[in-house]
Parts: sequence; structure tokens; C-alpha cells
Amino acid sequence: MKVALVTGGVKGIGEAITRALWQRGFMVVANYSKSDEDAAKLESLLNERISCAKFDVSDYQQVTASIQEIESKFGAIDVLVNNAGITADDLLIKLSKDKIERVIQVNLLGAIFCSQAVLKGMIKRRWGRIVNISSVVGEIGNPGQTAYCASKAGLIGFTKALAKEVGSRNITVNCITPGFIQSDMTQNLSETLKESMLKNIPLGRFGSGQDVAEVVAFLASDAAEYLTGATIPVNGGMH
Ligand code: NAP
Repeated sequence: MKVALVTGGVKGIGEAITRALWQRGFMVVANYSKSDEDAAKLESLLNERISCAKFDVSDYQQVTASIQEIESKFGAIDVLVNNAGITADDLLIKLSKDKIERVIQVNLLGAIFCSQAVLKGMIKRRWGRIVNISSVVGEIGNPGQTAYCASKAGLIGFTKALAKEVGSRNITVNCITPGFIQSDMTQNLSETLKESMLKNIPLGRFGSGQDVAEVVAFLASDAAEYLTGATIPVNGGMH
């Protein structure tokens, strides 16, 4: 049975990814950092082939120790989905040093740390899939989200470089750039902003976690074996 680790995998888009991989027969380890209740609920709902692992993806020590523990319990990780992310929304001139550092640490360094930690096992077995959840704003920019956009654009570069580094070991590395997806991250935006965003989405609706999860599941499947270094837009056509 293949083992998948989904960071930030107990709620929002991450939960949809956890469920999609679980439905396809993976043993899924869903990581989280604070959401104990969501984690417990998900574990009791899915019941088998699921385990929730609490660690902060931005903490190198925690990442290496936790991934070692996961691999000794369930076997080497075959699929890593770097989904954990936070926002830091404000004009750059007003953003505190702490917020700037935190968004880069979680969104970008977190993905790099987790990827490094799972690579050893993947290289050994000559098989692996890494999927990074970036964002459309990492491609087009968004005022009020400079640090967030930098972290998400960084993920695109990281994806391309790592894909070239590990392709010869049969490990694929791809990136998804979701558009506006309904989740806790987006629910607090004003109705006026949501209406104006909707006008720029040709498919005429916001996305769901499931829309992103289906593409992740494809990338994790055997059908995607010749696809690497790609940035796949799941944004309803907005870019
Ligand atoms: P969300 O509901 O806020 O979920 C974020 C997840 O990240 C939570 O499960 C959270 O777990 C986890 N997380 C945050 N900091 C963490 C840390 N230090 N260590 C481990 N886990 C951590 O947001 P979402 O909308 O589902 O977003 C998921 C991903 O999609 C993010 O990377 C986001 O940037 C990206 N994205 C979202 C949209 C959108 O429109 N929603 C669009 C483009 C890209 P805890 O609560 O336990 O901390």
C-alpha cells in the first residue's frame, strides 16, 4: 500500500486532498499544526488507513523527526503533498517583520524541509511524487499579498529545480496553482471583493477543495508518470 503525507491535511483544501488519496487506497498521513479537533474528527470518520501527525512544517527539527517517525510506523513516504500554508495580507509598508518571516517560513521553507526529508526514501526506491500547492497569485501577483506571493512564486521555482534534480530517480515534482478556492482562508473576504473576483473567472464559480484534490490525485497516480516540473493552473480560467 502506498503512503502519502499531506501537510495541512486535516481541513480546507488539504482535507479534500487527504480524502481523495484515501479514496484511491493510499495510507494517508495528514499533518496539522494547531487543528486538534479537525484532526480527531477526520481520524474517527475515515477510521482506517489514516493517521494525523502534529508538527510545524517550518521547524526543521520537527519535520525531520516526525517524518522519520511516520516512515518507521507506516513505511517510506511515496507521495508528499506540500499544502500547508498561511496568508499575511497587508500592504508591504505595514507588514511586520514577524509576519513576513512567518509566511516565507511556513509556505516556502516548510515545503523545502518536508521535500528534503522524504527524498532519501524516494531515491532509494526509485519512485516518488511531490506535489506543491502554490497559488495563481504566485504567477500574477496581488497587491496586499507581497510576501505571500513571493512564497508561492518561490514554490514554482523550487518545483522546477527539484524536478530536474531528481527526474533520473523516477521522482516527479509538480506544482498546482489554485485560483480562488472556497475555504477558511478565503471566507473572510468582503462580498464586494468576491463579486469582483467572480467577474474574472470564465467558468463563473469559485473553486472547491475537490477541484484541487482531483488534480493532486492524478499527479499521484501511475497515469502521470511522464509529467514533471509542471505548474498546473486550477483556477477556472482566470489566468
Ligand atoms: P486553510 O483552510 O487555512 O488551511 C491551511 C492548512 O495549513 C491548515 O490545515 C493548517 O493546519 C495548515 N498549516 C498552517 N500552518 C502550518 C504549519 N506551520 N505546519 C503545519 N501545517 C500548517 O487554507 P486552504 O485554503 O485550505 O489552503 C491550503 C493551501 O492552498 C495553502 O497553501 C494556500 O496558500 C493554498 N491556496 C489556497 C487558495 C484559496 O483560495 N483557498 C488559493 C490558492 C492557494 P493548522 O490549522 O493545524 O495550523
